[in-house]
Amino acid sequence: MSANNRYPSILLFGCPGSGKGTQGVVLAQFPNMVHLAMGDIFRAMDKASEIGKEFLSYATKGQLVPDELTIRVFRAHVESLIESGDIDLSYHTLILDGIPRTTTQVELLSDAIDVKRVIHLMIDDKDALIARLMNRAKKSNRPDDADLSVIENRIEVYEKETHPVLDAYPKKVIAKVNADQPPLAVLRDVADSLVGFISANI
Ligand code: ADP
Repeated sequence: MSANNRYPSILLFGCPGSGKGTQGVVLAQFPNMVHLAMGDIFRAMDKASEIGKEFLSYATKGQLVPDELTIRVFRAHVESLIESGDIDLSYHTLILDGIPRTTTQVELLSDAIDVKRVIHLMIDDKDALIARLMNRAKKSNRPDDADLSVIENRIEVYEKETHPVLDAYPKKVIAKVNADQPPLAVLRDVADSLVGFISANI
């Protein structure tokens, strides 16, 4: 893939439970935006397949899937959407949710994605965050939200491995959004931070 043929992308960035998925699903209502959530891509795979089993072995412990495997699955997924015509790179902006999640993933994807904007969904209150994740576990079938030690591990992995991803992007590209607000207020701030950064033609 050549440099000018990279996927135009917006990164939804933030710790587990910061509301990336909620915002991504809403943004994807615009015809020119496609929401790609790495966790959803993994969860949609056949659980009996080799990759499906490998994913579960990491996710249930609150660990990240190894970088090379993650990027391979991501690229194959995007390429199949391009082939089927569901993504047209001259029209769509990708809303990336949960990828890249390590600095190695940033490097492995540097030839493929062109990050126009990073939206950093910030939650400072760790107790509120843990309460959100426990609540999510009750509503959806998320093995990785099931117990406190797994949640704490994910927050630690986020701080150690994912937060440094921010350093890979110029400060002017990063928008900080207070994610400790009702979802509509977060959406308003997210929308505000995107105006002018994605194609106006929908
Ligand atoms: P979260 O709410 O933690 O952001 P996700 O639904 O994004 O959850 O991801 C669920 C699990 O999928 C993660 O705990 C991890 O095991 C795996 N996963 C998702 N995205 C990545 C990624 N970019 N790199 C490695 N593992 C990932």
